Amino acid sequence: MKHYNMLLGHLGLDKSMNSMEKASFEIALKGKKLIAERTYEFIFEKPQEFHFNAGQHVRMTLLNPPETDSKGNSRFLTLANTPKDKDLIVAMRMTDSAFKRVLGKMQIGEKVLIQILLHSPHGSFVIHDDPSIPAVFLIGGIGIVPAYSMIKDAIERKLPHKIFLFYSNRRPEDAPYLDELQNLAKQNPKFTLIATMTQMEKSKKSWQGETGFIDQVMLKKYLGDLKSPIYYTAGLSEMVNAMKALLKEIGINEESIHSEDFSNFKMSMMNMTDNSKRIKNYFLFGGIGLMIILGVIVHSSLAVLLFNAFSLKNLSYFTIGIILVIIIFKILVIFKFKHHLGFKHGEEK
Ligand SMILES: Cc1cc2nc3c(=O)[nH]c(=O)nc-3n(C[C@H](O)[C@H](O)[C@H](O)COP(=O)(O)OP(=O)(O)OC[C@H]3O[C@@H](n4cnc5c(N)ncnc54)[C@H](O)[C@@H]3O)c2cc1C
Repeated sequence: MKHYNMLLGHLGLDKSMNSMEKASFEIALKGKKLIAERTYEFIFEKPQEFHFNAGQHVRMTLLNPPETDSKGNSRFLTLANTPKDKDLIVAMRMTDSAFKRVLGKMQIGEKVLIQILLHSPHGSFVIHDDPSIPAVFLIGGIGIVPAYSMIKDAIERKLPHKIFLFYSNRRPEDAPYLDELQNLAKQNPKFTLIATMTQMEKSKKSWQGETGFIDQVMLKKYLGDLKSPIYYTAGLSEMVNAMKALLKEIGINEESIHSEDFSNFKMSMMNMTDNSKRIKNYFLFGGIGLMIILGVIVHSSLAVLLFNAFSLKNLSYFTIGIILVIIIFKILVIFKFKHHLGFKHGEEK
């Protein structure tokens, strides 16, 4: 079911100006698939009205979960498939968080809520326009999700860009979509996959490809000119920060580095502020404002009625009234509304 924020219009807010506007959908689970060790794909039905760009993320919220923990019922997850696909797919490393335990046990047909920004920020994690500039992805582990979606999309749309994917994992067993990427690279001469393993001694599989961390030597070997490409890096902070540091060392301009940090949940939280919550806040604070004005009017009228004259005494009653209302308001904001509105700093609800 789509809960489109019609109230925005009624409130006279310009939707086109609100780049943080988002759409919400309840979607049913269709299937699950193991794509690497401890890593699953969750396949959901795609509502007809749902549109997204390759590499875009959604905020997924569990509906009435049987358990929860302090980290809440929502996570930001990138869509692993392309806009052309008939389903919606997310992929994640399974951990012991309540969110992932509940998702892991979810039955086919059960629903989750997803929210997506209607105007995805262009120019951030979207492949650049100029096809003469190669796109180079520097990815580790689960950070492959946006890269996989973007690379498949570029191939589907027959984009002329040269694409290089440096893909680092400890072992082939840990590498989501490795087979699929190897097949894509075989079939598409414009796409080069450089997969590298950093802990092959712990693997049961054989490996003919690169080993060791992505470094300047490895980049030079496949790219030649390191200065001309536009670089994309995504995943956990450790990987994203390491790749940014490497690119800085090489002397790449910041404008040529696009990154998506999966651990940077505070920033994403700010970017996905719920419109309905915002509208609720407008009403609440509007209501509180009205209550204050009303309180002051009633109090001063009573003072005037009681003493029937304008005196210094009444003025002090009036001032005390204002101070009292302000104190009550402050107490309400600090203790009650803070909790009610979910203003816990940095928390993803
Ligand atoms: C834009 C974006 C895209 C992402 N895409 C993917 C993806 O495709 N696949 C994927 O696996 N992961 C993705 N992530 C990361 C994902 O949201 C989870 O953080 C991650 O999967 C770990 O979740 P967990 O439940 O296993 O870990 P946990 O450590 O149990 O939970 C991590 C979550 O807890 C919350 N949290 C952390 N610290 C605190 C705190 N001190 N107080 C309150 N809450 C806290 C945060 O919301 C964080 O998302 C993405 C993140 C972002 C920002």
